[in-house]
Amino acid sequence: MPAIPLPLTTAPAPPPVLSERRKTRRLHVGEVGIGSDFPISVQSMTTTPTADVNATLQQIAELTAAGCDIVRVACPSADDAEALPAIAKKSQIPVIADIHFQPKYVFAAIEAGCAAVRVNPGNIRKFDDQVKEIAQAAKDHGTPIRIGVNAGSLDKRLMDKHGKATPEALAESAMWEASLFAEHDFHDVKISVKHNDPVVMVRAYEILAAQCDYPLHLGVTEAGPAFQGTIKSAVAFGALLRQGIGDTIRVSLSAPPVEEVKVGIQILQSLNLRPRKLEIVSCPSCGRAQVDVYTLAEQVTAALEGMEIPLRVAVMGCVVNGPGEAREADLGVASGNGKGQIFVKGEVVKTVPEHAIVETLIEEAMRIAGDTASE
Ligand code: SF4
Repeated sequence: MPAIPLPLTTAPAPPPVLSERRKTRRLHVGEVGIGSDFPISVQSMTTTPTADVNATLQQIAELTAAGCDIVRVACPSADDAEALPAIAKKSQIPVIADIHFQPKYVFAAIEAGCAAVRVNPGNIRKFDDQVKEIAQAAKDHGTPIRIGVNAGSLDKRLMDKHGKATPEALAESAMWEASLFAEHDFHDVKISVKHNDPVVMVRAYEILAAQCDYPLHLGVTEAGPAFQGTIKSAVAFGALLRQGIGDTIRVSLSAPPVEEVKVGIQILQSLNLRPRKLEIVSCPSCGRAQVDVYTLAEQVTAALEGMEIPLRVAVMGCVVNGPGEAREADLGVASGNGKGQIFVKGEVVKTVPEHAIVETLIEEAMRIAGDTASE
């Protein structure tokens, strides 16, 4: 009897990325793996007084809902240190304690069960003398350490040597501190070298990436208000991620931290480093537009934000590129003559008056989401 050919089942190919990740060591911040074996994670930092446990946990819950993977909390006082055990225990995502100035809080954070501790050696008095004890405590509790070098608080010795916070100075400072931990056989280290200038920051990470295999936490520090900070972070992270550099990211904005998470996720999704969810393909509008594209795109985005399935939605202002883009998307509208042609998976499913475009797109999106969930 002739063999019956088995149906070929092939997994869908992963979406293309611009480059392979730089190979790194691996470590775990709580349950989140960090390094080239794991997806790039998104971090943010709370803005509440850490000592206010309820407010901090509330903000952490909002960040968790927005998709944040890891949260950092500041620990500037004894009251904040005392709050760490409750926050670390009740947070749904791993908590990193951020320590400046007071080495005793490094030990407190480790004892409190924080998933990691960020130290800024330039801001901790006699840090180098305490590395042995810190390494031992961290090792005993399985707590990774982030060495967070920052241009605004660079070690005085390196400031004197380099004259200012150059990329070389930032990288040298981080490598020096990492070597002190390595001397004590402690390697659960990740590193950041932040600067507010994306050019300096990118160069510093490139130098660092060439010199070590520690996972790297990317950040443009003090990047500015939302508009400027988003652009600076996207440009700098893009330049590094293009080279496979970067294992966890934090976008710093002078804006509510949930916005940082949204930007971070969007950067990763744009580069196929995280599965895309809602993607709005909307035209910039022009003299041919026959509908208010800006309002339409904003309304559709607001209504569909938070969709958990991959969904590309085209919102197009006229028939020049409209039908083509709408047909390529999962869902789309091409507008004209006071009407909108609604496309689902490449087919026109209906034509509706302009005032009904948004509600129709939402209905169809919900239908697609329901179909996807039942597949
Ligand atoms: S789709 Fe039409 S309205 Fe939108 S930018 Fe293109 S030509 Fe202009």
